[in-house]
Amino acid sequence: MPPRPAFLRYTFKKTNPKPAGSISRALMLNPGTTMNSTVLPPGTYWGQYQDITKSNTHLSVAERLWVAWYAWVQNDVLATGIMSFVIHELFYFGRSLPWIFIDSLGSFNRYKIQSSKVPSLREQWDCAKFVLLSHFTVELPQIWLFHPMAQFFGLSTSIPFPSPWTMTYQIAIFFVMEDTWHYFCHRALHWGPLYKAIHKVHHQYSAPFGLAAEYASPIEVMILGFGTVSSPILWCAFTGNLHILTMYIWIVLRLFQAVDAHSGYEFPWSLHHFLPFWAGADHHDLHHEKFIGNYSSSFRWWDYLLDTDYTPDALKRRREKKVKAKKTQ
Ligand SMILES: [Zn+2]
Ligand SMILES: [Zn+2]
Repeated sequence: MPPRPAFLRYTFKKTNPKPAGSISRALMLNPGTTMNSTVLPPGTYWGQYQDITKSNTHLSVAERLWVAWYAWVQNDVLATGIMSFVIHELFYFGRSLPWIFIDSLGSFNRYKIQSSKVPSLREQWDCAKFVLLSHFTVELPQIWLFHPMAQFFGLSTSIPFPSPWTMTYQIAIFFVMEDTWHYFCHRALHWGPLYKAIHKVHHQYSAPFGLAAEYASPIEVMILGFGTVSSPILWCAFTGNLHILTMYIWIVLRLFQAVDAHSGYEFPWSLHHFLPFWAGADHHDLHHEKFIGNYSSSFRWWDYLLDTDYTPDALKRRREKKVKAKKTQ
């Protein structure tokens, strides 16, 4: 494991003694710093933030907020667990909200892929309750396990943050890794017995909507969620180069991808028009409607390479192939 800068080494203490008196841990980090009067007590999060700001003016606001969070919680596993779970809930439901509005307003109906099947608010509410239950019972333990596992392989929570380029290429790799895992597991889940026992739940909605992205059996959530969590862990195991901020951004982008793919809307400005290998709602909606093909999550290449894509072009290609085969017989 790479050596952790002294600045943050304190956050990995096993015990969590609250600092005696009013001296915050942040100030304890910087021995040269003297304690001045603070507006907020150092025991609070904002107290920590103020102390860190005073003694570490070279840090960016984001880095100060970050250090204050880990310093305030005093337990890395807990700090990462809470942060990951809150980010997950905020961005999953936050990203679903615009789709709920769009569905209820009906003004974008011309862009709805299955325009006759607009979900009712009641349907969406029932779905939200189910998903929330799954988040607390299945995803929470998985999220909690992430930090100790990744830390074992050299996960960094220190500052400064990695460069935008480092985060970008790592997240791109996670997308490719997760998509591969998703393709093969999802395809396997469509095998008769597994479909009946596990995946049928997710296919309850033949015309999906944003909130339905994580409407699935707990076993499926574990299997497919493993791809999201283990991709960065595997990366970290091989390279020893992963910052947990990259992991947070990865979670957010993966959530956006999943919610949007289930939105049921295809716009002229949808991403796949600019990135032809991007899957999006255009790709996944057909999977829900036809129950076959289009198994990957983010990209189209696995479906194309293994001839499981379900698009008008693919159907035409297969028809032509059959005709050709018949002619040569
Ligand atoms: Zn499926
Ligand atoms: Zn789906």
